[in-house]
Amino acid sequence: NTRIVLARRPVGWVDEGCFATEDVAEPEIGPEDVLLQSVYLSLDPYLRGRMNEGPSYAPGFALGAPIVSRVVARVIASRNARFAVGEHVWGFLDWAERVRVPRGEGLHKIDPALGRISHAVSVLGMPGLTAWIGAIQIGQPVPGDTVYVSSAAGAVGQLAGQFAKRAGARVVGSVGSEAKRAHLLARGGFDAVFNYKTTPPDEALRSHCPRGIDVYFDNVGGTTLEAALRHANAAARFPVCGMISAYNTEGDAGIRGLQAVLTKRITMTGFIIYDHVHHLPAYQARVAPWLRSGELWFDEDIVPGGLAQAPAALVGLFKGEAMGKRLVQVAPE
Ligand code: NDP
Repeated sequence: NTRIVLARRPVGWVDEGCFATEDVAEPEIGPEDVLLQSVYLSLDPYLRGRMNEGPSYAPGFALGAPIVSRVVARVIASRNARFAVGEHVWGFLDWAERVRVPRGEGLHKIDPALGRISHAVSVLGMPGLTAWIGAIQIGQPVPGDTVYVSSAAGAVGQLAGQFAKRAGARVVGSVGSEAKRAHLLARGGFDAVFNYKTTPPDEALRSHCPRGIDVYFDNVGGTTLEAALRHANAAARFPVCGMISAYNTEGDAGIRGLQAVLTKRITMTGFIIYDHVHHLPAYQARVAPWLRSGELWFDEDIVPGGLAQAPAALVGLFKGEAMGKRLVQVAPE
């Protein structure tokens, strides 16, 4: 059995040297315990904040301790009446091939009828609900609105755009490569997509949002947010979901043009999905049928090769490598 621990804290950009792989004993289970085989690790941008000293919105990882994230796993032994061998569950688990979960605490059963098991941590889980809360509950798009989504090919962005489109809005997305741009346009749900690395957001928004922006779903912050403020309409809504452009740097350089919040009566609403988890069952009931019927698409970027690939896969997430929701496959389903 192996696990991945935090070997040193990143300064600036996270690199593979921040992680170490350790051999550990095979876990043994006691009364009421559950033994799991990890199947998919969920790789998410917030993990960068947890590698820092001190708390972000989640407590930091201790040096030498395992990295923890949402993990989809299979029950391989159980002394707990609630969990049977062969069932799939997800929980906040160590990055290890096999883990013992005392009394099965914190595990959530995955309903295989809802979708693929990986969907429990992607489209039917945290990233999906995040897109819904931000794009629909906070964004409140109405037919005719222009909605702009940054990191539009990411786990959250691809859904935020499609949800806004279903609500009747005109949807514009930004991404960091031509491949992502072509892919999103081919997949559908976005009326226009631009590559922020080749066209500055200010210039792109001027041409793609001629009637201004009514909702900006912010995943990146920085100069992209500045450009969105400049092109916002009066009474625009800005669900502030993430600011990934600042996660590996010393923080953002300061947003210019914030006065637009006042002059245009913009509502900027930061939100953290932990406060909205009670909406998950209703969200799943609404969205799972759309997935099954093909009305909604969702891309996962599953990195093969086992647990050892996780550090490089997380480093690559911040470099824009992933096309869709990034997961690492630790073992076959
Ligand atoms: P993403 O898949 O969107 O994140 C990875 C992508 O971010 C990369 O592929 C890259 O895409 C883009 N990116 C990386 N660096 C930059 C940069 N400097 N400027 C612009 N884009 C960059 O992850 P998620 O969909 O999981 O998360 C999206 C955002 O939502 C993140 O900011 C995350 O922290 C936040 N979030 C917030 C939650 C909440 O509760 N508020 C919950 C879940 C996520 P590209 O190639 O297009 O540049």
